[in-house]
Amino acid sequence: MQCCPACNARLGAATLCPRCGAELKQIVRSERVAQQWLSVSLQSAEAGRLDLAVPAVLRSLSFKQTPAAKLLRGFLVQRLYRTLYDTVAQQRWPEARDILGHLQMLEGQNETLRRFDEMIGQLSVKSAANSSGD
Ligand SMILES: [Zn+2]
Repeated sequence: MQCCPACNARLGAATLCPRCGAELKQIVRSERVAQQWLSVSLQSAEAGRLDLAVPAVLRSLSFKQTPAAKLLRGFLVQRLYRTLYDTVAQQRWPEARDILGHLQMLEGQNETLRRFDEMIGQLSVKSAANSSGD
């Protein structure tokens, strides 16, 4: 590490920043943990387990906001939206709700997700009424 990530002071071999007093061992450890969660997320995504990939990438980002983790989050959002459209088209409501939940974890609540939630609510009630023979 060349510079303190907190205040940008130049560092020697010190584990404590001489300017701002940041504990650098802690920061280095966070970077390592962030990297580990990022690989868990990547492997889960490759295995098609988005339910595991989503919390893992969030865990990684909570330790460090690396460009790689941000990129993976963006990729997961895209993939989840695509799956959401598919599940809605095929009227797989419980699955659609799960995916909506994952998107809310990644993006927070927003207008698009709120509309999807509303639409899934209405359509699933309607299809339940239809299948009961009313
Ligand atoms: Zn510092």
